[in-house]
Amino acid sequence: MTHNRDPDVVCFKHCGRKIFVFAVPSYCPVCGLPLTQSNEVLPFTLPYPFINATQSPCSVILCSSRGDFLSNFRNSVNLHIALTDSIGSIVEFDSPGLLWTPAREVDKAQWGQCLLVMQVPEAWFSEWDRMLRMVIDEEGWKRRQYDEELLNCYSFVLDFLRYLKYEDFSLFVNDRQKFSTKFIVPKSTYAAKYITIFRRVKESGCWADEMNSECS
Ligand SMILES: [Zn+2]
Repeated sequence: MTHNRDPDVVCFKHCGRKIFVFAVPSYCPVCGLPLTQSNEVLPFTLPYPFINATQSPCSVILCSSRGDFLSNFRNSVNLHIALTDSIGSIVEFDSPGLLWTPAREVDKAQWGQCLLVMQVPEAWFSEWDRMLRMVIDEEGWKRRQYDEELLNCYSFVLDFLRYLKYEDFSLFVNDRQKFSTKFIVPKSTYAAKYITIFRRVKESGCWADEMNSECS
């Protein structure tokens, strides 16, 4: 599936290694032997970790606070968390305060490559939109002042999830650290790994890993 302009990363096993490439070559780039489609090779595409935020309605998303992930991601410090509504608008709490950006006005460089933290099923869409308006208008998020430490993008998203009461998410919303460990860290760890592999393959054409580390 290609929903991005970046090539997919393919992994196959040969000569005791996992080898990452954009396209499986005829000969192993490590040992030079011809690659047959034997049981050992079995190429598979690494799951692409990113989504386009505006095409992911009623979601909690993470984006890189500067540009897209594959080019700019350094570490999880510069991650920004936001929501989408049922028609793909971005709703976020950032230094200017509460921002509600329609999908067509969204900066594609920033929001075209995001991590999906969670998405509710369609049956929840109207409740999600209703709760979003309630939290913004009645709970006062429209009037609050941003504070990098005390009142930031996380505060808004967690407060929203607290009111939404969807599945076990509400069990984690009172502790940012717990929420992060449960929902953010697994996603950002995989994305960081994918980015590392992607950049190495882009630089050198392939990258070989020892078998004991995980492909995905
Ligand atoms: Zn080999």
